[in-house]
Amino acid sequence: MYDCPVGGFIIFVDKNNYMKVNPAYRSKEALVALYNKPLLELVFEAATIHRQFHNPREVQMSSLLSIKTGGCPEDCGYCPQAARYHTDVEAHKLLSVESVIEQATNAKANGSSRLCMGAAWREVRNNRDFDTVVEMVQAVNNLDMEVCATLGMMDADQAVRLKNAGLFAYNHNLDTSKEFYDDVISTREYEDRLNTIENARKAGITVCSGGIIGMGEAIEDRMGLLMSYMEMETPPNSIPINALVAVEGTPLENQKPIEQWEMIRMVATTRIAFPESVVRLSAGRTKMTMEGQALCFMAGAGSIFAGDKLLTTPNPEFNEDKEMFEILGLIPKEAFTEGEKPVTKADPIIDARKAKEAQRAAELAAAKKDPNFTPRKVVVQE
Ligand code: SF4
Repeated sequence: MYDCPVGGFIIFVDKNNYMKVNPAYRSKEALVALYNKPLLELVFEAATIHRQFHNPREVQMSSLLSIKTGGCPEDCGYCPQAARYHTDVEAHKLLSVESVIEQATNAKANGSSRLCMGAAWREVRNNRDFDTVVEMVQAVNNLDMEVCATLGMMDADQAVRLKNAGLFAYNHNLDTSKEFYDDVISTREYEDRLNTIENARKAGITVCSGGIIGMGEAIEDRMGLLMSYMEMETPPNSIPINALVAVEGTPLENQKPIEQWEMIRMVATTRIAFPESVVRLSAGRTKMTMEGQALCFMAGAGSIFAGDKLLTTPNPEFNEDKEMFEILGLIPKEAFTEGEKPVTKADPIIDARKAKEAQRAAELAAAKKDPNFTPRKVVVQE
């Protein structure tokens, strides 16, 4: 029995009928029919399921920080960070750990309980930059925030290293259906993405994976994306739904913006299909009204990205979102309500490097105290 706060009456729902995926919508045809339902009926069905599995007043505020911007060798047709497109994005190299701590602290003070760090890489490489990202994860986990990273493809060992650093979630979007994927990206396969998601899952990291609507795909492709998650052994813990932000200079620059009703339908359908996952209302909120966003929350969106930038594209300011939360009676969700805080373990690679650096510093200090110490002369050949 369930006391429905939507209409103030009692309806009966057997919670055990639903699990991570909703068995009533295991085919693309069923999902398309659901998506096309009369809008308010769709929202009502989604709201009903949402209230069984989640606190409908809680919405997580997450912050997305670009830790390495631009210069990416991939060709994702929507992305201004791809090196091959001529956009206004200014490339910058990897941020320092200190800078990330400062920005994470600020995001937390503004109500964010999750920090997602994005690097414009094709894949994670085992180099000094990755060591720095591991240190960032350790540091932000120590701030008691959920740490998410989106770093491109990653192998199983790299996933374990991130997990041991304290990574809570790994974001790797499938973006769209298998069928439409090649129209948007050619430099890596759908299968590559599935493998990275599997590596994160096997390492014990929660999976965040979703898509973008408004890239010219059909409704069948939107539902094809959801079918890819249906076919997984375990669907993603969170599913971000993005509306394309068409950026000048990218191949999709002339795409017509989608109607906010399409976002509401996509959020609602995702909520119904995956009752336990967190549905994240992500890019494209600047084009939505507060009423449109309210319907998304009603239909089961449990998270937004806060802060004036989403990697490189615009997003509402913290203050605008605070006002919206007040008007709608929403509460920022605390960290670690969807899973335990990971324990940060020592990282042998970083520890060995630090020990070596300390040893070198000690040797140099000792040498400088030696009265016979003479710096080595470097002879420059003429
Ligand atoms: S979406 Fe990611 S992988 Fe694709 S071009 Fe942009 S930064 Fe590179």
